[in-house]
Amino acid sequence: MRAQAVTSRPPAEATANSARPARLGHLIDGEWEQPDATLESTNPARREEVVALFPAGDDAVVERAVAAASRAQPAWARAGAAERGRVLYAAAAEVQRDRRALALLITREEGKPLPEAEGEVARAEDILRFHAAQTAAATGETFEGSSSEQQIRTIRLPLGVVGVISPWNFPIAIPAWKIAPALAHGNAVVWKPSSQTPAVAVALARILERAGLPGGALNLVLGPGAVGQALVEAEGVDGISFTGSEEVGRAIASSGAGRIKVQLELGGNSPAIAFDDCDVELAVAGVAEGAMGSSGQKCTATRRALIARPILDEFLERLTARVRELRLGDGSEAGTDLGPLVSADAREGVERDVEAAIGEGGRLLTEARGDLPEVGHFFAPAVIAELPLDGATLQREIFGPVVSVIPFDEFDEALQVANDTRYGLSAAVFTRDLRVVERTLRELEAGLIHVNGPSTGAEAHVPFGGLKASSGPGPKEQGTQAREFFTELKTAYIDYPAATT
Ligand code: NAD
Repeated sequence: MRAQAVTSRPPAEATANSARPARLGHLIDGEWEQPDATLESTNPARREEVVALFPAGDDAVVERAVAAASRAQPAWARAGAAERGRVLYAAAAEVQRDRRALALLITREEGKPLPEAEGEVARAEDILRFHAAQTAAATGETFEGSSSEQQIRTIRLPLGVVGVISPWNFPIAIPAWKIAPALAHGNAVVWKPSSQTPAVAVALARILERAGLPGGALNLVLGPGAVGQALVEAEGVDGISFTGSEEVGRAIASSGAGRIKVQLELGGNSPAIAFDDCDVELAVAGVAEGAMGSSGQKCTATRRALIARPILDEFLERLTARVRELRLGDGSEAGTDLGPLVSADAREGVERDVEAAIGEGGRLLTEARGDLPEVGHFFAPAVIAELPLDGATLQREIFGPVVSVIPFDEFDEALQVANDTRYGLSAAVFTRDLRVVERTLRELEAGLIHVNGPSTGAEAHVPFGGLKASSGPGPKEQGTQAREFFTELKTAYIDYPAATT
């Protein structure tokens, strides 16, 4: 094994406009380690620009991180709920203080436009505050037993050592909504972030460190997917909370089955349904935002727009006009509506998916764009019509700014087409009819439903998660529900024998 260069100094932080790449390292047991950097993250809007250089962890690094978490966890749990809350409140304050720099860093490493990055940072702050407050919530219930001399209580205890594996598309909010409840409930964490966004991960880990989190309570191991796999297989891990692709999620589920607790949030293929009584402008805005926001790189993005035939022509005219007006560019520049895709591979994948859609008979309603900056992984937003309902495209999660428009005549037909996907993450419904709202809330197979708003978007204080292949069998994330995954529940029967005197 190569000797590790160990340093207790934190690595230089990547800042939004620093000309030199940051050198990042793993965080283990409160020490930043900087072995040779063999990997780099780049700015998707300027592919020549290296944002950060970082090492690839291996089985040995993961093992040490898990061992550090196992050592730190009992003391972190014993520190008490008030102290855990104090650290999370302090982390929220640090996020608020650094919000501009964090947003610029997200834009530089992930590519989303700055206002969206600022929104994501604000969400991370909300999440930290929400889970800080949860440390003061009741952790169990008290029941009367079958005799007056018995009381029954439920007790929640930390799960133990939790592995967090996160994707690149929300590089601060998704890790925050896993790490904050894990820490709030007294767990220690080993975090493997996406190798596309390591600098944002280091920035969040440093914030928690500055907030007073003791060494070992959060460990960060950088590197490719193999590091995540090592974490899933590591001895001493009690649970894995994963967000990412369906393929990787399924592999984690089968590797962890029966051995550890597994929570999965996976892909989506969300429908938006516009009924003929809807406010068409609102539906157009909702579909444009849902499909094109973050260049379509959201799990909850609208991929299929089902439009009632009487409003189809008006809808298409307005949607294509709106999409044509979207300005593509570097997300850090004012006025940019759409940033690049995250990588060359991502762009090539979406290009292939759109070619396949046209091969299936789909008609592209938006033309090629002359304003695509060549320096980044830009992809022109696309609206596709006339796809066959039984073709492969409508079943695929196209992770880019692409939406397929499908006309419908009857309510039941709209519901049937909307549900005709193995995914079930989110859905949007546009209507003024309360009866339609009620039926769609009951019959749409989606874990999140937005009425008269885009299929994207989630708040920190309510449950988040999908149905069908979009999620694993584990409990939902966020809100008070988050504790279901991060704690074990015990039921205690306590007998108080009658006094003898
Ligand atoms: P991904 O599955 O490629 O990677 C996610 C994480 O898993 C990364 O950290 C990666 O390094 C790691 N990983 C890769 N192979 C692994 C393995 N064999 N074992 C363990 N870990 C491994 O996903 P991505 O490209 O980063 O993200 C895009 C996907 O995430 C899309 O499918 C999107 O729908 C999904 N997503 C879902 C949600 C949700 O809440 N449902 C939210 C955001 C993104």
